[in-house]
Formats: sequence, C-alpha cells, structure tokens
Amino acid sequence: MEKWILIAYPCPECEVGSVFAVRNKKDGKLCAYCEECDTLWKKPQDVERREYFEPSDEDFEWGGYAAEEEVVNFGWSDYIYAFKNGKRVKYTDNSKSF
Ligand SMILES: [Zn+2]
Repeated sequence: MEKWILIAYPCPECEVGSVFAVRNKKDGKLCAYCEECDTLWKKPQDVERREYFEPSDEDFEWGGYAAEEEVVNFGWSDYIYAFKNGKRVKYTDNSKSF
C-alpha cells in the first residue's frame, strides 16, 4: 500500500485531522491537504500560518496523495512530519530509517 506523506498533525483548522501532501493535476504542483476537514494549503509553511486557500475548479483538481519521492523532489523534505522514538524529527535527519 502506498504510504501517505504527513505534513502536519493535528490540522490547525479542525484540530483532529492529519495533513498530507497531495497532487494538484491543474498545475502539477503539490498541496497540503487535511483529510478530515478538506482544507488545502499551497505550501507547508502556510499550514501553521493558517493561510489556506479555497480552490475553484479552475485552479485545483484532485490528483491523489503524493508519494515520498515526489514530496522530496518537490523540496518539501524539511516539512515531512516524521517520528522516531516518540519524538518529532526532521525527515532529512532520519532518511535512512524513515
Ligand atoms: Zn483539518
């Protein structure tokens, strides 16, 4: 099964959901997406700032959950939310055992 890449937890908008990296078919870029409240953000930095966007059919089309490799290639590796021994760690510090 494909592993979804977690960007933030819990979601600052609904406080229960997990925020994953997803593809936007319209522009080929990645977005952050909360699977609980359907909120979308254009950049991982926007999640904490609560700068979400409300997509229209013109600028967003669901392209599925992004794979780990895509998220890293897109330059979001610093924002991958990873845990090791119960502590939050940076993906880039943890890539061997992630
Ligand atoms: Zn949410």
